[in-house]
Amino acid sequence: MATKYDAIVIGTGQAGPSLAVRLAKAGMKVAIIERKRFGGTCVNNGCIPTKTLIASARAVHIAHRVGDYGVTIRSPIAVDMEKVKARKDAVVRQSSEGLEKWLMNTQNLTIYEGHARFTNAHKVRVGDEPLQADKIFINVGGRASTPLLPGIDEVRYLNNSTMMDVDFLPEHLIVIGGSYVGLEFAQMYRRFGSEVTVVEMAPRLVKREDEDVSENIKTILEGEGIKIRPSAECIAFEKRGDKVAAQVDCSRGDKTVIGSHVLLAVGRVPNTNDLGLEHAGIEVDKRGYIQVDDQLHTNVPGIYALGDCNGRGAFTHTAYNDYEIVAANLLDGDHRCVTDRITAYALYIDPPLGRAGMTEAEVRKSGRKALIGKRPMTQVGRAREKGETDGFMKILVDVETKKILGASLLGIECDEVIHSILDVMYANAPYTVIQRATHIHPTVTELIPTMLGELKPLE
Ligand SMILES: Cc1cc2nc3c(=O)[nH]c(=O)nc-3n(C[C@H](O)[C@H](O)[C@H](O)COP(=O)(O)OP(=O)(O)OC[C@H]3O[C@@H](n4cnc5c(N)ncnc54)[C@H](O)[C@@H]3O)c2cc1C
Repeated sequence: MATKYDAIVIGTGQAGPSLAVRLAKAGMKVAIIERKRFGGTCVNNGCIPTKTLIASARAVHIAHRVGDYGVTIRSPIAVDMEKVKARKDAVVRQSSEGLEKWLMNTQNLTIYEGHARFTNAHKVRVGDEPLQADKIFINVGGRASTPLLPGIDEVRYLNNSTMMDVDFLPEHLIVIGGSYVGLEFAQMYRRFGSEVTVVEMAPRLVKREDEDVSENIKTILEGEGIKIRPSAECIAFEKRGDKVAAQVDCSRGDKTVIGSHVLLAVGRVPNTNDLGLEHAGIEVDKRGYIQVDDQLHTNVPGIYALGDCNGRGAFTHTAYNDYEIVAANLLDGDHRCVTDRITAYALYIDPPLGRAGMTEAEVRKSGRKALIGKRPMTQVGRAREKGETDGFMKILVDVETKKILGASLLGIECDEVIHSILDVMYANAPYTVIQRATHIHPTVTELIPTMLGELKPLE
């Protein structure tokens, strides 16, 4: 006999726990299932540990630059990778254990530890234990994809999860993939002291961003001694003694990079292949993402999919927003939907890239009449005072409505500054609202009104 619940939540990522607690507090009898560690990717091998490691790497970087600020360090600067990892582990543990305690102390909520699999549209099995509910919420997230590159089975490689166990300094880290995850690790390990080569199949880094953004990021990373190998169309691996050789090109440039370790950072796949979705009749697309409507219902009544596994977002904040959408519709009579969401994210290299709305390329493609404003960080007083003037800020507005279409802010504090633009976009207000605001001096944000005062037609 299956144990009956009002709701079952599969996965304790960024949507599941908050939803489970809300449902339980609303008086429902709820089960939540986790097969690995509480908190999922973000907490255990994504956002939190990487940003913690990036903070250590930044400390090293600043230590090497203290002379620029008139400071002298008399002993050599050394990085203790075991301590760096221990610091990261402590921050992760705090989040993961805090989450587990929160779930354990919630009334009406039962935790199951194990792998969940559908047996039909209302039943899920965890190990030998059958559970049943009319409402099932899938929050199973994703994992690093391992492409079938020639020779990949012959060599040992790392991904974002196994990188979390590294407590030593790789001599030469070859990062396959010059996008968001790969670049954060590349800069971090370069700053710790590794040789780093980034191998990217596309002609440029982070190809979803505008060309000027990609180019500037390349300049920043090369300035720190990272080697970038774009257009690596034929990637293959070979063991060379205790080293790894990565073949990077069939036609031009250096053909081989020899390194000590390989990190695969070439995208993610949803954790939906082993969930028994076929027994419940739940539709997925050809890449395995669960198909959902604007309120995150799957094609099967009573079953919802939230977070990375639905392919409608790939971030912690989008997964959490999925929880808000489902809770608002189910419990608050508040009609919220995914299409209300404005694209926003950050790339946490240093300086970070903060993004909101459309890129310049997307605005051009849309064919609408737009204005563009751009300002290098060298013309931002706050950046000059801090001695960190890499990057630039760019904003696009619609000529007719005066609404902000998008912004790319690459520079110090820009992961925070972008919110001053994002909130005005959510308010659906014209850019002139920001232009007329009096901002605090000295800040990076105070230059946004100045940039908006210098808008030019997008040719
Ligand atoms: C290196 C890296 C850095 C990142 N940095 C950022 C960042 O700075 N900012 C940001 O917004 N996003 C970042 N992300 C993305 C972010 O981590 C994910 O978008 C987010 O974690 C997705 O949350 P989720 O709830 O969809 O799933 P997840 O967090 O992946 O959680 C899913 C959970 O479900 C469990 N599960 C899966 N299958 C089953 C099953 N069958 N039975 C039981 N349990 C199951 C898993 O074990 C996991 O705990 C990063 C990702 C990576 C890899």
